[in-house]
Amino acid sequence: MMLKKLGNQYDTIRMRLANDFRLSIIMMFCIPAATAIGGFGVYRFLQGDWVMTLVDALLVAVLISISGFVWITGNTVVAGILLVICTGIGVLTVLYLVGLVGLFWAYVDIIATFFLSPPAFAIPKALLMVVASVALGAANGLDPLALISFATTVFVVSIFAFSFARRSRAQARLLEEQAIRDPLTGAGNRRALEEELCIAIARVQRGEAGAGLLMLDLDHFKEINDRYGHANGDEVLKQFAELVRTHSRHEDRLFRFGGEEFVLLLNSVRAESMILAARHIQQTIRDRLSIHAHSVTCSIGAALAAPHDDWESWLHRADNAVYEAKTNGRDTIIVADHLPAERC
Ligand code: GH3
Ligand code: MG
Ligand code: MG
Repeated sequence: MMLKKLGNQYDTIRMRLANDFRLSIIMMFCIPAATAIGGFGVYRFLQGDWVMTLVDALLVAVLISISGFVWITGNTVVAGILLVICTGIGVLTVLYLVGLVGLFWAYVDIIATFFLSPPAFAIPKALLMVVASVALGAANGLDPLALISFATTVFVVSIFAFSFARRSRAQARLLEEQAIRDPLTGAGNRRALEEELCIAIARVQRGEAGAGLLMLDLDHFKEINDRYGHANGDEVLKQFAELVRTHSRHEDRLFRFGGEEFVLLLNSVRAESMILAARHIQQTIRDRLSIHAHSVTCSIGAALAAPHDDWESWLHRADNAVYEAKTNGRDTIIVADHLPAERC
C-alpha cells in the first residue's frame, strides 16, 4: 500500500516535470543553483566569513522557497520573475562584497533571466544588470579593460540567450499542445487523460475531493460512417465533443479515449452530482446531435473514484459499466458498483 502510494506520487512528479516545460526549467535552475551556493556557503562558514555565509544561506532559502511556491501553485510566471529578481540582487550583492567573483555569476543570472521570465521583463532587467555590474565593478577597482570585456561578452550571451529562449518557448508551446490534444475534436488525448487521472486519484487519496468518470461511447457509430461517409462521421465526433464541453462544468475535462469513445473527468463531485451530469449530457446528445435527421445517442458508464483505486482500475470500472450499458440496450447510463448494476 505504502509502496503503491509512493509509486503514484513518483508518477505524478515525473509527469508534471515532463509536461510542464517552464516548471521543469525553474526546478532545474533552483536545485543545482541552491546546491552550488550551499557548497560555497559551507566554505565561507569554515573560513569564518559570516557576512558571505549569511548571503549564501539567504540565497539558498530563497531558491528553496521559490521551488516550493512554484510546485504548490504551478504559477511559473510569478515564480520565474521572482527568481530572476532575487538572483539579480544576489549577484549584485556578491559583486559588491567579493568583487570579481560576482561577474562570473552575472552570466548565470543573464541566461536564467531570458529563460525564466518573459522578454518584456527580461530585456530591461538584463540591461540594468549589465549597467549595475559594470558600475559596481568599477567602484570595486576592477580593471576597466576587464569590465569592457565583461560588458561585451555579456551582450553576446544575452543576444544568444534571448533568441534561444524565444524559439524554445514557441516550440515547447506547440509541442505541449500537440502532445495533449486530439487534433480532430480538440479533446485531451490518452496521455493527458492518464496524467489528469493520476492527479485526481492523488487528490481523492488525500481526502481533498471526490472525482467521477463518465465513459461515453456513441451508439452504432459505425452505421453513421457506413451510411454518410467517414467525413460526416468526423463531423459528428467534433459536434459531440463540442456539445459535451459546452454542457459540462468549466472544471470538467473531456478526453478522447479512442475512436468514438470519450471520457469526461468530473472533479469535486459526489455520486448524485455525477449521475445528474451524466443524465444531462445524455439528454443533450439525444436532443441535439443528429446527422441528416438521423439522431445520435450515446451510452455512458460512470464510476466514482474509490480510495483504493489507481487510475487504471478506476477507468476499468467505467469501461465495464459502459460495456454493460451497451448490453442493456444502449442510450443508457450504468453506474459502476451499484448493487445491483443500476440502469438510470
Ligand atoms: P456500439 O453501439 O456497440 O458502440 O457500436 P459502434 O458502431 O459505435 O462501435 P464499433 O466499435 O463497432 O465501431 C466504432 C466505429 O468508429 C468504427 C470506426 O471505423 C469508427 N471510427 C473510429 N475512429 C474514427 C474517426 O476518427 N472518424 C470516424 N469517422 N470514424 C471513426
Ligand atoms: Mg460506439
Ligand atoms: Mg466503442
